Amino acid sequence: MEEKARYGFIMCVCTGKCPGFQAMDIWDFINQVRVELPVEYGIIHPQLCEEDGDRFLADFLQTHRKVIVGACAPNMQKKMFKQAFKDAGLDVEKDCVMLDIRDMTNEKAFEKVKQALIDLGFEEGIF
Ligand code: SF4
Repeated sequence: MEEKARYGFIMCVCTGKCPGFQAMDIWDFINQVRVELPVEYGIIHPQLCEEDGDRFLADFLQTHRKVIVGACAPNMQKKMFKQAFKDAGLDVEKDCVMLDIRDMTNEKAFEKVKQALIDLGFEEGIF
């Protein structure tokens, strides 16, 4: 059976100064995600909704790999990333799982990413 293509995981930390991420150790979190969960890789971007974030997405989405983005509210992400996905021939609602991981501890945010992967059918590699 063909193996399911893994998602990439991008965390956006809102410049690193946003109070929404103060309860989390972002480096422990991203390391736990990339090591313990079945994602292709985990990366941190400082501000995905800025112009250089658009340029990053334009390059990054050339791979057409689906992504999970851990950042702010999904409705905000949808508005901000829609065009970048469209320009890459993708659909932000189908090709991106947008998670709000603000105001969470590492444990809570990790559980949220884990649950999203389970919902996507990636039980294998988690348990
Ligand atoms: S995408 Fe969301 S989390 Fe990232 S910088 Fe913009 S508002 Fe902040």
